[in-house]
Amino acid sequence: MTNHPTADETSVEIDPPSEAFDAFSTAIEALAPDETLRFEQLRVSRDGDEVVFETEDTRYELASDREIHDAAEANAAIVTNWYFFEHVAGDHPPRRAFLRWLEHSEDTAVGERYAALRDGLVREWGQLRITVRLTDRGERRYDVRHVDDADATTGGGLETYDDPLDARRLVKFDDDGRYRPLKTAPTLPTGWAFPELGPREMYETVETVYPATVVNWHRERDGRLDIDHWRETMERQSGIYGVIKTWDRGEGYEHVNRVAEACCDDSQCLKRREWQYDEETDLDVDGGDGVFPCREPCSLVVSAARKWTQLDGETERTYEFELTPSEKEQIETIIDAVADGRTHEIREADIYDGANRYRARYLRAKLFDEDGNLAGVPTEPAEDDGSESGSE
Ligand code: SF4
Repeated sequence: MTNHPTADETSVEIDPPSEAFDAFSTAIEALAPDETLRFEQLRVSRDGDEVVFETEDTRYELASDREIHDAAEANAAIVTNWYFFEHVAGDHPPRRAFLRWLEHSEDTAVGERYAALRDGLVREWGQLRITVRLTDRGERRYDVRHVDDADATTGGGLETYDDPLDARRLVKFDDDGRYRPLKTAPTLPTGWAFPELGPREMYETVETVYPATVVNWHRERDGRLDIDHWRETMERQSGIYGVIKTWDRGEGYEHVNRVAEACCDDSQCLKRREWQYDEETDLDVDGGDGVFPCREPCSLVVSAARKWTQLDGETERTYEFELTPSEKEQIETIIDAVADGRTHEIREADIYDGANRYRARYLRAKLFDEDGNLAGVPTEPAEDDGSESGSE
């Protein structure tokens, strides 16, 4: 039976570019007799001199180039979808997988997806908000910006860019002008947008903001993420191995838990930590909920851990301080506020917050001596009055 193409079954009008028709014809011509071109809902094969063109609910047997062209035109969504992913997206597997993920292609049929793409489909990648929209030619355009700028207009405060390389400069400092040593820290600055990118430029922009995140996400999806756990990574740090090798099960394990809690928590890094203490030993602290994985301790963590290893190597001493209960609690509140990065949120007038600047200044004025010693207790016994200096 030969059905003649009628109207496009989706509610979205698409006017496919001639390149899509040309690529489709070329692909059909190249089909071997027993070969089937398959892509999502599209199936095309040869049956003698005829071309069998099938979608989920339509089957055409096409005898001429004209009929093939008409069938493609009547199913423009399905054909342009094939063309986009097979010819425009390129053959870099992580990019292709990312483009498909962005438009939820794994769980929506083409017609439904095209209708949604008209309004724009949104995904978040770390602090990036990526919107993909469909043009009336079946092409995709991408808008990349900070999630907090979702409703900002490009004419009203957002600076717009079209060269992915500009992203390097844009994300170097946070909104307070501080250098961002960790690219995946949740401190991405706001106020910019790449509103009209093609698929390759969008991918390049994302990889500039968050390097290697798509590649590692893709490897993880394919079950190929090679994870270097803490001990393996440390054993490669030749220069500091002398310090790190003292870390072993027991005490070392607790150190690494603290390192991960301090640095890799979602509040500090948007990667989901997948590395553990070693192949057999998971850390106690949660790896986070980030969409993209972290496959090994980063240089920032290694360098911080080195310092902490040295500090933790010091011998503990007993100090005696006289504090009121409120003062003890205030010191705990101050440490919490600094660790959680919330000191800038504490209003000057909020003297009920122990980490309030005036409260902290009052505590310092009351408890520090002229040398900055808490409660007048020197850090080193040698600074004391000689009672502990051991002179004989
Ligand atoms: S090691 Fe921790 S802080 Fe560094 S990138 Fe991975 S998750 Fe982030």
